[in-house]
Amino acid sequence: MQTYGRQPIVIKSGKGSLVYDIEGREYIDCVAGIAVNNIGHCHPHLVEALKKQAEELIHVSNLYYTEPQAELAGQLVNVTGMDRVFFCNSGTEAVEAAMKLARVTTKKTDFLAVEHSFHGRTMGALSLTYKDMYRAPFKPLVQEEKFVPFNDAQAISDAITANTAAVIVEPIQGEGGINVPSNGYLKEVRKICDENDSLLIFDEVQTGFGRTGAWFCKEHFGVEPDIMTMAKAIGGGFPMGAIAAREGISFGRGEHAATFGGNPLACAAALASIDVIREEDLIRRSKDMGEYFSKELSKLSTEGLVEVRGKGLMIGVQFNRKCADLVEHGRKNGVLLNCTSETVLRIAPPLNITKEQIDRVVNVLEQA
Ligand SMILES: *Cc1c(COP(=O)(O)O)cnc(C)c1O
Repeated sequence: MQTYGRQPIVIKSGKGSLVYDIEGREYIDCVAGIAVNNIGHCHPHLVEALKKQAEELIHVSNLYYTEPQAELAGQLVNVTGMDRVFFCNSGTEAVEAAMKLARVTTKKTDFLAVEHSFHGRTMGALSLTYKDMYRAPFKPLVQEEKFVPFNDAQAISDAITANTAAVIVEPIQGEGGINVPSNGYLKEVRKICDENDSLLIFDEVQTGFGRTGAWFCKEHFGVEPDIMTMAKAIGGGFPMGAIAAREGISFGRGEHAATFGGNPLACAAALASIDVIREEDLIRRSKDMGEYFSKELSKLSTEGLVEVRGKGLMIGVQFNRKCADLVEHGRKNGVLLNCTSETVLRIAPPLNITKEQIDRVVNVLEQA
């Protein structure tokens, strides 16, 4: 079923920030599988960990304990600064889990989301995803539209009710166009949630694991959510999702489950990926290379360029026109690009992209 508009190339292999198509053409990957391949393609440590785990045990279900899962739970508590984790298999599943957890914890039913949000495609997550085109054909959803403008705390304060289980927000919006909130926004949202006994959910599916130059984007704003979702980069390309919650917020036995959630192979991938982020200092690299990349991009004289924004290696280049032609120009000149919201070029390469590769990308864009 053709649910994606695809680029007309067949990708065969990858190494670091480069991928190769079946005709042997090389591309610098500024998409990273949609902010997934943060440690680069086929990192030897990840490949080795997957091989080793595959030879030992691939799946047993959560009716038993396994060492990789226990170890990963510990690592995630460590990197998120939160207390409890639940494992699933994708971003949308993480959002579903967060929604269920918010309802069962607060005994309230409603959710408040913001305009231009993206939280996934399953029925619950879809109810919180802004684009009408995604939602309209599938109504009735879990709730009627309840979206308030992004970066407007007063709008949240006005819309929150005694029945709001949670407010959900991406600390930097991804699919919505790499929208960075102003500094005090999330702090104010935190306060409004506390005053109304509503939970605060950060959707860090896209912003997590070093993408923005911090382990998690929440660190930039000094705000702690009650529940946080993770997926995309968590397994270095191996499918996985998770939520983390603070102490006191937890599912009880039988309240939620996932057959594959946290299986040994996925956990081994995530452990290896976290190792690489630490060992190669990729958080700092994301910050430094992100600053360099953004600086170079803002010097571009490309027609229609309005603004370069983002944090770390989560960069949006806003145009005053559609930018699909730039994606095509990039592809024809050895650079994979992606545009989101039609007018924003989203740049999200592996975090170990080199300066020389960044220069090549900027050069290709300059020619455009
Ligand atoms: C991609 C994304 C999701 C959905 O993740 P899937 O793994 O595609 O289901 C949810 N939230 C955010 C912020 C995302 O970027």
